[in-house]
Amino acid sequence: MAGTGSFLGGVHPPEGKQYSEHQAIEVVPTPKQVMVLLSQHLGKPCEPKVAKKDKVTAGQMIGSVEAFVSAPVHSPVNGTVKDITLAPHPVIGRTMAIAIDTDPADNTPKRPAAERFGRDFRPEQYTAQQICEAIAQGGLVGMGGAGFPTRVKVEPNPAMPKDTLVINGCECEPFITCDYRVMLEWTWQVMAGIRLAARASGCSKVLIGIEVNKPDAIRVFEQAAAELKDAFKMQVVPLRTKYPQGGERQLITSILGKQVATGGIPPAIGICVLNVATCAAIAEAVVLNQPLTHRVVTVTGRAIARPGNYYVPVGMSVADLIEHCGGLTETAAKVIFGGPMMGPAIADLSQPITKTSGAVTLLTAEDVTRAKFEKRQTACIRCGRCLAACPEHLNPTRIAHAIKYGRLDVAENYYMAACIECGCCSYVCPANIELTGYIKTGKLQKARAAKKLG
Ligand code: SF4
Ligand code: SF4
Repeated sequence: MAGTGSFLGGVHPPEGKQYSEHQAIEVVPTPKQVMVLLSQHLGKPCEPKVAKKDKVTAGQMIGSVEAFVSAPVHSPVNGTVKDITLAPHPVIGRTMAIAIDTDPADNTPKRPAAERFGRDFRPEQYTAQQICEAIAQGGLVGMGGAGFPTRVKVEPNPAMPKDTLVINGCECEPFITCDYRVMLEWTWQVMAGIRLAARASGCSKVLIGIEVNKPDAIRVFEQAAAELKDAFKMQVVPLRTKYPQGGERQLITSILGKQVATGGIPPAIGICVLNVATCAAIAEAVVLNQPLTHRVVTVTGRAIARPGNYYVPVGMSVADLIEHCGGLTETAAKVIFGGPMMGPAIADLSQPITKTSGAVTLLTAEDVTRAKFEKRQTACIRCGRCLAACPEHLNPTRIAHAIKYGRLDVAENYYMAACIECGCCSYVCPANIELTGYIKTGKLQKARAAKKLG
């Protein structure tokens, strides 16, 4: 290990975790209907494997596709397929989804599996192949936000052998506390998933990165690691509290002092990075044969009556979740699907929760008025703050300027594709230029053009 616990660039926004960090994970009642998106991951969208009026059972695979980079989707409830139709998607606008009416006579909510895992768990009873197969069949994707299929990350690849497993317990995005609660309440389940992932990927070293603003999570993981007598070395690495410390490439730099080349991937330098919630899902998929149908979602901010961390079926609408949390306060003004740095604002509350939805943040009118993005935009004053803040060492103002004037070719020459959409450049810009918004638009335009060219 040769990292300094930090990386170049980044910002220090107000943490805002106080609304939900002390709220234990609460199981929500099964909603009357779920809407399971067929595209919840990076890669090819699934095709439906059920038809209208089909009966489905909880855990049944309802969508899949033959493609290396993809992940199947499963029903979180027992019920009947009501429709296969378009539904809101937080990034691409709309996508196909399977609407399922829950069986009213059989709607007991699924409970978390944490109590079924302890320090005596033995990962040796599973082969690497069994672990990878369960991860693939369970439809696991990176639950920290990126949604990259977990099998592709974990599976051994002779062309890129991995030796180090980096576990992301940073949760650097303001307001969000779902991973923090998972670390505290599901410690042994996460540990089981980490050990299974290490076994499957062939990694001999495990480094668990946690920001120092979560001292109790650091303590429980240090205790748990000390109790285990695994062949591989497991170490908890406290990291500086700084956004976006949990970005895959920033985390690798902070912990190991290594750089992943622009456009490259961690396995190219022998590293596999997994989020703590994904590790918990690995344990459930491998040991209990349960696919990824539920996740913990933080519902937070001053505009929600009962902020907290909720165990939610994938496909539940944001509207139903808000209602379960006591509804909006009178001053509610904006709903963000995710945290305030990376999450998009949504207007349609029928938006379903996906496998990668870590939070719903509800802001008041006062929060919104204070926020920079509501202030008047002026011309760039060439202060260079966006360059200093960019954790990917890009030139955000040049990229945004090129996109604004329709020059995607120029934006690409400035490495638009390397932008991780962290929002740091927009956050620091004194001219209130929505740099990240321009860059996201440019990337979408590029993706659409590529599809058209086919
Ligand atoms: S250019 Fe992209 S990676 Fe760099 S600060 Fe802006 S949003 Fe983040
Ligand atoms: S931070 Fe804003 S004003 Fe400063 S150089 Fe970047 S775009 Fe221009």
